[in-house]
Amino acid sequence: MPRLLLLLPALTYRAEAFLKAAQKINVNLTVGSEDPVHPFGPAFSNWLRLDFSNLEATTAVAVEFAKTNPIDAVVGVNDNTTVFAAMISEALNLPHNSVSSVLAARNKHRMRQILKSHGLPTPQFSVCAIDENPEVVLPRLNFPCVVKPLTLSASCGVIRVDDPQGFREAFARVRTLLKKLGLQDREEAGRQILIEDFLPGVEVAVEGLLTNGALRVLAIFDKPDPLDGPFFEETIYVTPSRFPPETQNQIGETLAQAALALGLREGPIHGELRINQKGIWVIEVAARSIGGRCSQTLRFSTGLSLEELILRHALRMNLSTLEREAKPAGVMMLPIRQGGILERIEGQEKAFKVAGIEELTITAQPGDLLVPLPEGTRYLGFLVARGESPEEVELALREAHRHLHVVVSPASPERQSSTPRFGVIQV
Ligand code: ADP
Repeated sequence: MPRLLLLLPALTYRAEAFLKAAQKINVNLTVGSEDPVHPFGPAFSNWLRLDFSNLEATTAVAVEFAKTNPIDAVVGVNDNTTVFAAMISEALNLPHNSVSSVLAARNKHRMRQILKSHGLPTPQFSVCAIDENPEVVLPRLNFPCVVKPLTLSASCGVIRVDDPQGFREAFARVRTLLKKLGLQDREEAGRQILIEDFLPGVEVAVEGLLTNGALRVLAIFDKPDPLDGPFFEETIYVTPSRFPPETQNQIGETLAQAALALGLREGPIHGELRINQKGIWVIEVAARSIGGRCSQTLRFSTGLSLEELILRHALRMNLSTLEREAKPAGVMMLPIRQGGILERIEGQEKAFKVAGIEELTITAQPGDLLVPLPEGTRYLGFLVARGESPEEVELALREAHRHLHVVVSPASPERQSSTPRFGVIQV
């Protein structure tokens, strides 16, 4: 039986789906994580303690382990663990993305530089240190523009600004956020802020799988809610896309070019792209699968989940006959609109009863401090729906969401200034 090393960070929505997938395929599973008891999963009997803050040391531990327990595939589930997966795979001579390509995909500035140098449509951008004087940066900017951290996800810290005063405020806000999350002490990218021209348009998310550099598009999700800022709350994703087939092909081609430019060659990728009269623009490409519980929307022939597909691909099992189930599906990432302490969420039963709703998962717990964007790092939960058409799916998600009523109480000033109880959940 092949052995899979699955790298699970402590804080991820993705653990459950990957653990379930590993149980379903015939594989000898070793979980590499920092703790044997995962907050989102069971205690692991087959467990390797790994430190996800030290790339070299962790690679050495995994290589040592592989001497007595030969490993056939290493899979990371989020932006950080995919870097470790690449490094360990390289050391074990397994098919993998280069470490530099995965690092580029998780650094928004590096990614912009690479996409630009490969001639892909790129907004004008510049980077500055968090302790730089914003007045010095101002003359370089066009308005509107977007201010963002280099390595966060889920739109955390991403702010559109329309004028110099807006920039001063957003800059200070992102600087405070990076300090609060402790990112500035961890890496240089945590001490930097990226500013890029705002790209108008509509947005799609694309799920893809790379094999030896060739991209297979697994799904294109439309994002029907406008994403014009000042903050960029992710809400509804619906697939299949309502864009005409030619546009969908161009979206796939643009993502493939971006992956090639970054040097990504193996495994899942997740892209966010904007479409306007001037073309198709890559907002970002991550060397991992879709975050949250959004993968629940995707099912492949014989009922395979996205995670099973990813693990099978990593283990070089045959996937040639796999088709995605055609039935339209969608997910709503339940946004946090009001800050405070979560008391309860009313209307769950009604929301779940809406025709087409297949799943309602509340991931926030009563007593949690809820923080809205742009400082927030997590969602309230997820709604998943299926229907006869993308329109029907979208309507079901909206109707179900209307039934949910989030009751919060004010947080004390000490609680408000505390670091998040769960740290930064890596989507
Ligand atoms: P994250 O990895 O945190 O999601 P992104 O860079 O993908 O950060 O930005 C989050 C969202 O902000 C995007 O999905 C998009 O809606 C919006 N956004 C980011 N950059 C731009 C831009 N240059 N122009 C317009 N919208 C943007």
